[in-house]
Amino acid sequence: MAITGVLRPGHVCIRVLELEPAVRHYVDTIGLTEVMRDKAADGSPRVFLKGWDESDHHSVVLREADESGMDYMGWKVDSEATLEKLSADVEASGLATDMHWIAAGEHPETGKRFRFTVSTGHIMELYAYRKATGCATGSLNPDPWPDDMHGMGARRFDHCLLYGDDLANTYKLFTEVLGFGLSEAVVAGPGEQMIGAFLSCANKAHDVAFIQQPVKNKLHHVSFLLDNWGEVLKAADIISKRRVSLDIGPTRHGITRGETVYFFDPSGNRNEVFSGGYTWYPDKPVITWTDDQLGTGIFYHDRKLNEKFLSVFT
Ligand code: FE
Repeated sequence: MAITGVLRPGHVCIRVLELEPAVRHYVDTIGLTEVMRDKAADGSPRVFLKGWDESDHHSVVLREADESGMDYMGWKVDSEATLEKLSADVEASGLATDMHWIAAGEHPETGKRFRFTVSTGHIMELYAYRKATGCATGSLNPDPWPDDMHGMGARRFDHCLLYGDDLANTYKLFTEVLGFGLSEAVVAGPGEQMIGAFLSCANKAHDVAFIQQPVKNKLHHVSFLLDNWGEVLKAADIISKRRVSLDIGPTRHGITRGETVYFFDPSGNRNEVFSGGYTWYPDKPVITWTDDQLGTGIFYHDRKLNEKFLSVFT
């Protein structure tokens, strides 16, 4: 196995204000599949979902709460041994707080999780086991897509972009302790201080991105993978057809080269569906964007940022 350590973003838990409108949005509009429901330890209702091309039991959790945003993001690692090693490394690093283990079974069909808070305020988890219940097309002589593909037909939960106030130490933890690589950086000022970090744990242009902002623990967007530009255009049609709140797009990112459209769930959390981007290898030179070209980096066609992109987050 060439890809070791942290394999991929395995789950995201999104807080929603009202569960049913949220489920309709993530299922009927984005195209995820509902897997099961339960209640969190505090009694708040949860719904577990996944994209049609994902094999593990679930990847997206919606939790009803008083405030929208992200509860936590989980990372699947390659083995129990790696889970033990990386959890010990995080503890020894001095770069995380509130470290503790969550018992197996707190997430359905999932082993124990090591939870910690990074310096941008975001709660992260590592886990090694989740039951592989199979993707919608199966793994024996599969068809290229399932008959019951619906809405935008999102393949999988792909990444999050997060806002926080101590990018330097979060970057240090992800790269020096968890083994991520920096695919693209945004730098500002004469000292070229890093204000944006796009980080990859495997072969994608990014698995998570952090932007320096004077806030803690904020979610900019949760992103889902589509197959091609035609599907992104169709997703924009669905946004209009279903009267979903559009943010911007369809357009292309300079950073990661992805084709994208942004919109909001009924609780105000920003979503993205995207396609494209490039294959990243650990020896690929870091792509750098200077802050005077940030507009082009984010929205390649408009070449400028819209105010909402920076100021609206949950
Ligand atoms: Fe994104």
